[in-house]
Amino acid sequence: MKHKIFIHSKKGFFGEDSKTSHAFGGRYVPEILYPALKELEIAYKTIMQKKSFAKEYRELLSKFVGRPTPLIYAKNASKILKNEIYLKFEGLANTGAHKINNAIGQVLLAKKMGKTRIIAETGAGQHGLAVSAACAKLGMECVIFMGEVDVKRQFPNVFNMQLFGAKVVSVQSGSKTLKDAVNEALREWSKESHNTFYVLGSALGPYPFPDIVRDFQSIISKELKTQCKKLKISPDILIACVGGGSNSIGFFRHFLLDSKVKLLAIEAGGKGKNIGENAIRMQNNNAKVGIAQGYKSYFLSDEYGNLSHTHSISAGLDYAGIGPQLAHLQEIGRVEFSSASDEEALEALKFFAKNEGIIPALESSHALAGAIKLSKTTKNKTIIVNVSGRGDKDIFITAKYLQKENWIAFLEEEAKTCKEM
Ligand SMILES: *Cc1c(COP(=O)(O)O)cnc(C)c1O
Repeated sequence: MKHKIFIHSKKGFFGEDSKTSHAFGGRYVPEILYPALKELEIAYKTIMQKKSFAKEYRELLSKFVGRPTPLIYAKNASKILKNEIYLKFEGLANTGAHKINNAIGQVLLAKKMGKTRIIAETGAGQHGLAVSAACAKLGMECVIFMGEVDVKRQFPNVFNMQLFGAKVVSVQSGSKTLKDAVNEALREWSKESHNTFYVLGSALGPYPFPDIVRDFQSIISKELKTQCKKLKISPDILIACVGGGSNSIGFFRHFLLDSKVKLLAIEAGGKGKNIGENAIRMQNNNAKVGIAQGYKSYFLSDEYGNLSHTHSISAGLDYAGIGPQLAHLQEIGRVEFSSASDEEALEALKFFAKNEGIIPALESSHALAGAIKLSKTTKNKTIIVNVSGRGDKDIFITAKYLQKENWIAFLEEEAKTCKEM
């Protein structure tokens, strides 16, 4: 590998501009957001680096999130797939996924900065859920921006956020989905940053968010190193799914300089190869280098540079951009990209449920599908898959695909008894 691996950004950028590489990341935002981001950068470089902060964070991870999450030997799957398969099960973290590692970290940081109010955007609701839980725990006021279309689609998550005491604002502008919620949250932040902290949910956005989110999610690979040592195993291949990139970068972090370990990222192959049918950005160099949502990276976009529509069975992987550090790691050849289709993800979900007694999130099922596909050509390797979340949340999707008739009958019966109540 001839290029340097950027573990942290340098002045906000990952990589260097040359004939064959780019400097990804940066802080491409309207002037009005500069003061808030500058203040955050200072907090990142001071408060977040303190030993006392790390200690408080670790305590929340163990006493609230439920860490360490287990490293499970998938004995039955290993036998069938002829590889040694291990699962790092983030699905056992409070609120059901890795997102809480970052949410509780940022809310703690906000508190130390003297902020009293938290805002965040959410699409499918998983990030909103994690932030709401973190705010309930740390006693912060919480406002979640969500497109009106998503509010209607995601009743269970909205319901739970409200149980946690969050105010869910239904955004009426534009297409009434995630990007409009992002715009609304940023507008609010630029006006109210004196008392308000904006919690970003993945390893992307303007500097210093990609560094902050990676650092908080790195707890995954830190634990994994210890767990591998204890089990006396050394992984050959690590596999994670990639939406924005937070679970993968946290899972890869402490293995980035260990060149013996192959790092494999799985994108959403969706239902077809055409534009709008998947969220494949890096595999086959589908996406173009561009600047959007405050940072430079690869984005799926049309001829005018507008972000393309994407599709995936899993809401968490359905994103047109990718975190700048992962873009850099792919470009220099450190992280390899592949994809799994909707159907392959569902097959992987069924396979690991039946053989290992876990129900992975649909997002994580893509990573598991990656392990199954790899096992067709690769044998006798130690493969660790990051199971970023558990699948309870997905029953409204999986039941529709796997048991449509029974699911409809169940919903109708529920509606009927509910009305009679
Ligand atoms: C949100 C989510 C993802 C995708 O986001 P990343 O930032 O790429 O990790 C993956 N898995 C689960 C369970 C999620 O909730």
